Amino acid sequence: MTSRRPPNLDDPVDPTRSRIMRSVRRAHTGPELVVRKLLHGLGLRFRLQRRGLPGTPDIVLPKHKTAIFVHGCFWHRHPGCGKATMPKTRVEFWSEKFDRNVQRDVDKEQALVDAGWRVLTVWECETRSIETLTEKLQSAFVPR
Ligand SMILES: [Zn+2]
Repeated sequence: MTSRRPPNLDDPVDPTRSRIMRSVRRAHTGPELVVRKLLHGLGLRFRLQRRGLPGTPDIVLPKHKTAIFVHGCFWHRHPGCGKATMPKTRVEFWSEKFDRNVQRDVDKEQALVDAGWRVLTVWECETRSIETLTEKLQSAFVPR
């Protein structure tokens, strides 16, 4: 399972490297695969990264009009999560970057809600507890 690590903070920002990082971030990551497997196991039909929707959500369940984002805790600043650490150097650079990420997430979510979608966020750390995550997805989608 791949999980993104905080970058080496002493590295200069290399354009090629940041291009690769961006494409890696867009690729289907381990945590997203976990969510897909669970949804599949619950008999829920979904689509991936449907363009044309605001914010290009990672997973879309058209029937439930629900968009799912699978967020890395570090990059997207999972509130109260031990993985959302602050680097010790270049603090200003990182906090601005994180603020932008968080703001972008808020904007995406709002745009989807405005378009009549429900938005569900699954945090990377939640994909480590299959039971809890199954419950979360089940209660979001499966009528009892
Ligand atoms: Zn987390």
